[in-house]
Amino acid sequence: MDEVILEVKELHKYYDLSKENVVRALQGINLQIKKGEFTAIIGPSGSGKSTLMHIMGALDTATKGQVWLDREEISKEKISGLYKIRGRKIGFIFQGYNLIPTLTALENVMLAVEYSGRKNNAKKEATEILTDVGLGKRLNHKPNELSGGEQQRVAVARALVNKPAIILADEPTGELDTQTSMEIITLLKDLNKKENQTFVLVTHNPEIAKTCRRIIKLRDGKIES
Ligand code: ADP
Repeated sequence: MDEVILEVKELHKYYDLSKENVVRALQGINLQIKKGEFTAIIGPSGSGKSTLMHIMGALDTATKGQVWLDREEISKEKISGLYKIRGRKIGFIFQGYNLIPTLTALENVMLAVEYSGRKNNAKKEATEILTDVGLGKRLNHKPNELSGGEQQRVAVARALVNKPAIILADEPTGELDTQTSMEIITLLKDLNKKENQTFVLVTHNPEIAKTCRRIIKLRDGKIES
């Protein structure tokens, strides 16, 4: 039986803008992600995709409901305790890469190892993973000396280096051209197969969603299919 990595139960998120104006961004989401799955979350703008990703990624808390990650109930934590869970269990890939501009590719990835508290071998692990994603010859380049696709590869290496329980990717190809987007998706798929690494990605791009084994469709804060 496949191990459940992430489970969301009856999740609600409301943004209270004022007493009369409450946005019900998520309304009773239930889902399970198993180890080694490659899942896309799609849906129109405003359907709750980012809100769901932020709560699954321990970047924000829910109004009601539970989130279990790697057999730990993260929805019990206050927002101030969530950073520990993020560092240990979750890898993020963002649309805008979010690399530190003053650090080299190698240093950006090493920093993730250091944040996780596993200081030993940061350089070796970061070098290996950057080589795996095809950047063995770009270790000492800073982000502005790399193409968009290369910067996203650094971000992929950074997400992967601590072997997190899950990698969450929010529009990971949003700023890339079609060919580079497909190269990045192919890279993620290869890592999914080779390392049995679990991925959840949010995408607007139907071509990318089509290539994912599982598609979760959100509408008005609910799972439509
Ligand atoms: P998506 O990522 O699918 O575009 P979001 O999760 O960003 O959707 O937004 C879901 C709903 O919640 C939208 O109606 C949005 O306007 C609202 N929303 C998102 N973040 C906030 C916030 N910080 N404060 C108030 N409303 C928000």
